[in-house]
Amino acid sequence: MVYTTAIHELFHAFFHSVTEKNKKSYNYIFQIEESMTELSTLVCLQEIQKIIKPSFDVFDFAIDTIRNKQNILPLAPYGFGAFLYDKLDKNERYELINNYVKKLGNIDENDDKVKEYKEKVWLSYFVSDNQEHCLELLKEILKPTAK
Ligand SMILES: [Zn+2]
Repeated sequence: MVYTTAIHELFHAFFHSVTEKNKKSYNYIFQIEESMTELSTLVCLQEIQKIIKPSFDVFDFAIDTIRNKQNILPLAPYGFGAFLYDKLDKNERYELINNYVKKLGNIDENDDKVKEYKEKVWLSYFVSDNQEHCLELLKEILKPTAK
């Protein structure tokens, strides 16, 4: 458990420092940040698994743990990170994470899509098709804006 938590917190720290470097205030939006942090943790662990080849599967352990969070209502936004991992292919995962990094400090909490995502991600596991809908909302929210 400790290594998954350590990597999770590392990504928060990274996202925070990116925002500071861009001279933006860190507008932590719990429901988006925790989903994206869990997705990033899984992507990272998959690489670690390839490098160190430990005697147990660090990735399988982590994704099971995160998936189960979808069943625990207060942790649903964390669990949604496992849905993102399962649903997206490798390039799409990298793209979503990079879009998030670029959008850090620029996500408008009063935007209708953000409000809807924040509300519905809690229900993702319990309502049919809601996860798909939340994924579409998140892609839209993080989509790069033309300058
Ligand atoms: Zn967190």
